[in-house]
Amino acid sequence: MRTTPLAAACLSLSALLSCLSNAAFGETRHSLDYQNQSAWKGVLDQAQSPIDIVTSHAQPALDNEPREIALRHLDADGTAEDNGHAVQFNTHATEATIRGRYFRMTQFHMHAPSEHTIDGKHFPLEGHFVFKAQDGRLAVIGVMYEEGDANRGIQEILDDLPTASAKPKTATLDVHSMLPEHLGYHHYLGSLTTPPLTQNVEWYVLRQPVSLSHGQLAVLRRHYKQNNRAIQPLHGRPVIEFGG
Ligand SMILES: [Zn+2]
Repeated sequence: MRTTPLAAACLSLSALLSCLSNAAFGETRHSLDYQNQSAWKGVLDQAQSPIDIVTSHAQPALDNEPREIALRHLDADGTAEDNGHAVQFNTHATEATIRGRYFRMTQFHMHAPSEHTIDGKHFPLEGHFVFKAQDGRLAVIGVMYEEGDANRGIQEILDDLPTASAKPKTATLDVHSMLPEHLGYHHYLGSLTTPPLTQNVEWYVLRQPVSLSHGQLAVLRRHYKQNNRAIQPLHGRPVIEFGG
């Protein structure tokens, strides 16, 4: 019998109580020990994320199927939170058509340093835009951030994070400012990068990085100075490139 994601996350009594209270919101929130990743519970198979993207090994996307990513409703109402392992913004406003299929955004969160590497190189920050289709399929758009100009959307999330005593309040997030101009990507099939590490997640790691300021990065690192899962073996999976 398969363990449900909620049950997998609720392995101790204290975690169970926390999970039950959070289950009402459809979320499982628990702290993760990034210094002891081998102890994580979840799927441990051959199609895991993140990976090192070796650009010279990527295959061009076939032109006999839809290839583009198109995003709509980029002023997204939602709530910011620190979920115990990442700074996150929850919204269902933004929609995507990804390779011809319809998805709706569920949340955006950040990892420092980046989880994926490009030709062996980490970026200081990676954002994950998590999308879900009606049939439950997950697609994550990964964006690499590098130090430069301040990023308006990331600042909005930082400004909207509730303090310990305050409840989250609804805010509008400028999703557009957190995306690059070109939505060219590297695509492969992988997994969630936190337990339950569920597989068959479609990954689209955008090729063009976006900037955030040194100060914004420092604030994020005060929440999590290292919340990236280790690079996982590719095991022969194809990596497909498009545009950018
Ligand atoms: Zn993530």
